[in-house]
Amino acid sequence: MKKISDYIHKEILVIGLAKSGLAAAKLLHQLGAKVTVNDLKATETDEAVQELKELGIKVVCGGHPLSLLEENTVDLVVKNPGIPYSNPLISLAEELNLPIITEVELAYKVSEADIIAITGSNGKTTTTTLIYEMLKEDQQQPLIAGNIGTVACEVAQKATKDNVIVMELSSFQLLGTIEFKPAVAIILNIFDAHLDYHGTKKEYVYAKGKIYENQAESDVSIINFDDREVCERSEKSNGKKLYFSTTTELDGGTYIKENCIWFKGEKIISLADIVLPGIHNLENILAAVSAVKTRGVANESIHKVLTSFTGVKHRLQYVETINSRRFYNDSKATNILATSKALQAFSGPTILLAGGLDRGNEFDELKPYLENVKAMILFGQTAPKLERIAIESGIEVVKRVDNVEQAVKTAFEISEENDVILLSPACASWDQYKTFEQRGDIFIHAVHKLK
Ligand code: ADP
Repeated sequence: MKKISDYIHKEILVIGLAKSGLAAAKLLHQLGAKVTVNDLKATETDEAVQELKELGIKVVCGGHPLSLLEENTVDLVVKNPGIPYSNPLISLAEELNLPIITEVELAYKVSEADIIAITGSNGKTTTTTLIYEMLKEDQQQPLIAGNIGTVACEVAQKATKDNVIVMELSSFQLLGTIEFKPAVAIILNIFDAHLDYHGTKKEYVYAKGKIYENQAESDVSIINFDDREVCERSEKSNGKKLYFSTTTELDGGTYIKENCIWFKGEKIISLADIVLPGIHNLENILAAVSAVKTRGVANESIHKVLTSFTGVKHRLQYVETINSRRFYNDSKATNILATSKALQAFSGPTILLAGGLDRGNEFDELKPYLENVKAMILFGQTAPKLERIAIESGIEVVKRVDNVEQAVKTAFEISEENDVILLSPACASWDQYKTFEQRGDIFIHAVHKLK
């Protein structure tokens, strides 16, 4: 860890405890800051609160009192990425012109290792995992950080110059960066997501674009050539630009030619050898290949990963085949783009299980992808909206059920040999389930029970 002096004697307010707040508070304390932690839900008896208090860190639980900032002594606010800027305490911090960061900024400041940063509306976890696996296969000592369950600043503390950190980043995390400068930065795609948090698409695009903002000539900006918005947002980057495309042969980039992946005129792998299904995964693979080639990874290592990697859990994950019906769990598909990509991955008759939290959008954009869908089994708040789409698209079998378990049973009953039965909800899970993982696990369990 870099021993930085930026935070010595600084008064820092960490808002939102969770895993990332706890890690940030401990790190800042270690770096000599005077830290106060504030959390709405935590109570005095929580283990994390106790741990912080034992270190001498002040913890304020049960609300976000404005008095925490009113004395004008705080120098910096570290906020949990999930807390919106409309939160009155954050608004006050903005009014006071205080810098507001997320723990990702801290991770960058203390990391001795280079960072490969990945963002995008969809495909982050898959691409992050692919890059990590390829570097590992190549003996490059990668560490993985971000949404996948490890807190970035905790990973960064452990990293040495010999490591490279592969970091998945959301737009929420990126908004709270100031100096963050990854050695390699990727934006996979930009799609209207999280507008409930960001308010406007402009702000969402701005947040994602921050990944390139501080890059210098010695850094690499990896850009999806097929996504206009990504291209526009990367224009100002000072990093070396490296494009990837599934549609255009790009001499100096990563592309498809003669059914193979090529990198700057060098053949990497034949598409037929790749296990992961779907054109969307091909985009993730091209991005991953671009990233690892800049780190000198051998083609053999890339080949080994791409011929064995079957996907991350809940992301178009193959579950099993029962009576010649193939079941796929794509519970992570929480928006229309993700579900449309999943549908494009299958060319035969498909039964789609979908529905969930109503975010106020309609689903007409799904229509072009329903060609192979013979039945739709719908659940959750959005079931009526999806039912309209199904009927307007001429799908013959449309059924409403109460939950994922019933959906699996119903799908199996109406299915025929060689059908794909696909859970790809196009919606978040929170109307009925705690997380998309829980929804996916229930699906897997229900499938196993059919036997
Ligand atoms: P993220 O971490 O960005 O949410 P994941 O890799 O977890 O992305 O994939 C989430 C969902 O998005 C999956 O269900 C998958 O079907 C879909 N998806 C994955 N990669 C892409 C892509 N490049 N473009 C569009 N959709 C994708």
